[in-house]
Amino acid sequence: MTNLTRLEAAARSALIDVTGYRVELDLARGDTTFESVSTVRFGCAEAGASTFLDVKPKQLHRVTLNGTEIDLTGFGGERVTLTPLARENEVVVCATMSYSNDGQGLHRAVDSADGKHYVYGHSFLDAAPRVYGCFDQPDLKAPYDVSVTSPPDWVVLGNGAATQSGEGHWVLATTKPLSTYFFTVCAGPYVSVTAVHDGIPLGLHARASLRGPLERQAEQMLTITAQSFDYYHSLFGIRYPFGEYHQVFVPEFNAGAMENPGCVTLRDQYVFRGAMTHDEVLTRASTISHEMAHMWFGDLVTMKWWDDLWLNESFAEYMSHRTLSEATEFTDAWVDSSMSRKPWGYAAERMPSTHPVAGSPAPDAQSALQNFDGISYAKGAATLRQLIAYIGDAAFLSGVGEYLRRHAYGNAELADFLGAMERASGKDLQGWADAWLRTAGLDAISVETSPDQGTIRSATIRRTSPAAYPASRPHSIDVAGFSGGTEVFRVLTTVDRDETALPELVGRPNARMLIPNATDLTWATIKLDPATLAAAPSELPALPQTEARAVVWTALIDGVALAEIDPRHLLTVLATSWAGESNQSIINRVGLLMTQRIIPAFIPAGEQDGAHAVIATSAATMLAGAEPGSSRALVGARYVATSSADLDLLRRWAAGEGLPEGLQGDSDFRWVVLGNLARRGAVGEAGLDSALDQDRTMAGNLKWLQTRASAPRAEAKAWAWEQLTGERGRSNYELNALAAGFWQAMDQDVLRPYVARYFSDVPAMAGRVGEDALARVAALAYPASMVEAATADRSAAALRRQDLTASVRRAIVDADSQLREALASRAAYGWGLVDAQR
Ligand SMILES: [Zn+2]
Repeated sequence: MTNLTRLEAAARSALIDVTGYRVELDLARGDTTFESVSTVRFGCAEAGASTFLDVKPKQLHRVTLNGTEIDLTGFGGERVTLTPLARENEVVVCATMSYSNDGQGLHRAVDSADGKHYVYGHSFLDAAPRVYGCFDQPDLKAPYDVSVTSPPDWVVLGNGAATQSGEGHWVLATTKPLSTYFFTVCAGPYVSVTAVHDGIPLGLHARASLRGPLERQAEQMLTITAQSFDYYHSLFGIRYPFGEYHQVFVPEFNAGAMENPGCVTLRDQYVFRGAMTHDEVLTRASTISHEMAHMWFGDLVTMKWWDDLWLNESFAEYMSHRTLSEATEFTDAWVDSSMSRKPWGYAAERMPSTHPVAGSPAPDAQSALQNFDGISYAKGAATLRQLIAYIGDAAFLSGVGEYLRRHAYGNAELADFLGAMERASGKDLQGWADAWLRTAGLDAISVETSPDQGTIRSATIRRTSPAAYPASRPHSIDVAGFSGGTEVFRVLTTVDRDETALPELVGRPNARMLIPNATDLTWATIKLDPATLAAAPSELPALPQTEARAVVWTALIDGVALAEIDPRHLLTVLATSWAGESNQSIINRVGLLMTQRIIPAFIPAGEQDGAHAVIATSAATMLAGAEPGSSRALVGARYVATSSADLDLLRRWAAGEGLPEGLQGDSDFRWVVLGNLARRGAVGEAGLDSALDQDRTMAGNLKWLQTRASAPRAEAKAWAWEQLTGERGRSNYELNALAAGFWQAMDQDVLRPYVARYFSDVPAMAGRVGEDALARVAALAYPASMVEAATADRSAAALRRQDLTASVRRAIVDADSQLREALASRAAYGWGLVDAQR
């Protein structure tokens, strides 16, 4: 597989200048292929020179350059050499293309609810040539004219406003200059809700079988969209530039969403078909607002090369949380960021694959894809908050406005962004950027006090940089003390050396909990002092500040991962503090981290039922105390269903008896219950098949695959593994479901033979499954629950191989690092005699 290098891209953009694309797609030629004709007009700085065009067809019929047909006998399947070039050129590429089922290129899915077909285009990161012939790199922007032929009953949407010019024929309005990776066309019998806000036509679209939920939830989503437009217009001083704004909820989407100008694609699980919780609606709102921020940052101004992708993502991540908390009902959005995003980034920083926010080498397009992680999003956003604390919000916004105006419809790089910030603030930011943006790693921050008869005699903040990534990062943070539910003190300070005295605390009364970074403004591992740790079970439930509670939870979870806190202590805190927690992002994220990571990895198999019982008991308390039918009751019910060992209760719920209010007929909830029963071997294939009969939908099919794969029986394992790794033509989502279920079985003996098979069979899927999809499959299919030295040994051996693709290698590096954290913790806390150093 060819992979565009940075040097090739730079040479090509120095030579040519693309002035326009015309793309004609014929989607009415059957289920497996479509016809693509693209006409590209471009100038060339040097007559007689040559360049190449990217196209990845099933069959390439004809390429003409300035009217002369090019000889395609040496075409290797990806690049067409164009020579000799004139000063003004037109190339026409006619090809038959394959629909994909891995979420890249033009993905085609069949809705099992009604047999209807849906298509969407996903050109990110380098998949545009799977749809049309192009010069596929972000800094060759051009306007697009697109027309689409489709089956007569389909709706067509794209970057430009679509009009139907005849039955099954659609013409899209000419776009502003776009990078190739923003190209999309969505086509199928989508159903729509439309509106207009501030002169901008808005559309929400989803599969026909999701019509009811789409229509019920549209008002909430349109409100977030309108509030975000108003906020961004006032913040940036530049109106939304891409005409209509469509949000298309598409099936089997790999990421959360994609910021195609004018036509954002989002995963259609965001159209909730059953009961939904407050934090799920918040997450969807955050994604809506995130993609809208990209219309300016990313789409209007695009990074020159993929090594600055972080700038798009950090900015959108920061802006969405700011917008939600300042302009919408979700005033607690930053707490959600603390719980759902930062632990993801902190985990990424502990892995050997960690990298600087900016300037990570991306010598080619595929290596750039590997940096698209918790560092680019969560750390980048936290870093921008530190930048704002450093230069002030007014300077930040003025710099952003200047940056957007100066590079509108063009491309920029880190130096341009920093230059704008320096001009706006009058500060030299090179040292700041070196420490925060160009150096990987996170500091540990702790506060040491000497208490003396009820008051603090001395206090010091200690900042420890990782030895592997030394840097002097300045932190703007606050330190707060709480006792018995009352804030005793709070001081704001800047930590810019390894030891900073805190004279403001001297003479203050001792606090039972001392919390550094209490409003979670910085990016650091927070180490709680021993007295605060010991007081957590009794003090945390009463802590009045939500952000501070989120910081404590994250510190506890990170402490377990670092083998510095006994997982049993975390369970003790959970037993006292989780059921009474009022913030739903905290409740749900703590629950997810406990059930998906802490219990399976850090607690030995024989003790896991006891740990799940702590979750189930607390969740039952939460459910009993919540208003029936409320979001809180739903969360409680879900964690009872996930963790309870009460087979009678689970079987009754699975049969639809005695369900909590609001969950009658809720298929998603029934699958949660069945997932628990399946892991325990307490429901057979017939039971799962009959559940599928009641839920013949795309979601139902995936849940059926996942629960069937999780059964602890040898035949079930053999079937699931073959479905996962065999050449079955399974879609990206089906592979994810099989992989997610497989290792859930509560019987390690039945799983053990598949540890070795992971390392032979999953790497062999490369080539059949696109790298973007394979990255997820390889991570989900890793034997993370087999916390044994043998698993680590096999990982190490695999990483010595030279034939792993970038996505598979990265998945193994990261999963292996997490496995070693679990081994180290089990060794430190007397659970299993394993050599964590191997
Ligand atoms: Zn984004």
